Amino acid sequence: MQTLQKLSNRLFYLPPYQKTDRPILAAVVGDEQTLLIDAGNSSNHAKQFKEQLTSYHITGSILALTHWHWDHVFGLSEMDMTSIANFMTFDKVKEMQELSWEDKELDERVEAGIEIPFCADAIKLELGSKREVIIPNPTILFEKQITLKLGGVSCIIEHVGGDHSSDSNLLYIPEEKALFLGDCLYANMYAEKWHYTIEKMTKLLEKIEGYDAEIYFLSHHPAPLTKDEFASFVSLLKKSAILTKKHKGEIEEIATEMSSYFQHELTKDDLEIIGYFVNGYA
Ligand SMILES: [Zn+2]
Repeated sequence: MQTLQKLSNRLFYLPPYQKTDRPILAAVVGDEQTLLIDAGNSSNHAKQFKEQLTSYHITGSILALTHWHWDHVFGLSEMDMTSIANFMTFDKVKEMQELSWEDKELDERVEAGIEIPFCADAIKLELGSKREVIIPNPTILFEKQITLKLGGVSCIIEHVGGDHSSDSNLLYIPEEKALFLGDCLYANMYAEKWHYTIEKMTKLLEKIEGYDAEIYFLSHHPAPLTKDEFASFVSLLKKSAILTKKHKGEIEEIATEMSSYFQHELTKDDLEIIGYFVNGYA
């Protein structure tokens, strides 16, 4: 059972839970409105978050979606409040409303290469045998950017896209110097090989670097990253992109130069990142 973390009077988050792929959920508490970030991967997940907020006398009034993936939207009906999404996310939600999430249909979609085995397994585990998935329509739609004034604190939501999902938003809380990145820095998983592309990653990092933050939330990282931790993650991504181009996707050469650049043996995580760029190199 994850426990709600309080970072300030304005900022709370529920850590992710890897086993059933629950992402981080967060609350930005304003004097007039409280913004919730993401709806969770099930009614149970949403309920758990709401209950823990209640123990701090916090009730959400408006919810923003980082992107359309199941683990971020399946709790939307339980959240039962005004919701914000960009037009691309809205369209994907409409598509998902037509799907069945029973074993048979899930397995068929995995077989057809439309659904990821990893997601299908997590859905089965999270939702159990009685599966009722109702995803309501998001209510407030934007295209590029929207700003929310919550009373004493605000939130800028910007559509940034990226490899993971083209509808990804980031959410920036200037008063807290907090940046919520959703899954936008993760690989494209809806592909034969999980991958990053040099072009999309470069564009995305440029956008992210336009925000002055001290704390960074990646939806499936166990804890938020400090400025330094995020900077080293970004430098790994950037260097991987540059070296993938320079060495035309030759993994050995990329790894050798990377290791001498950072002056340490590459970790499993480093090699995974390089691998994604190599997979996406064409
Ligand atoms: Zn995702």
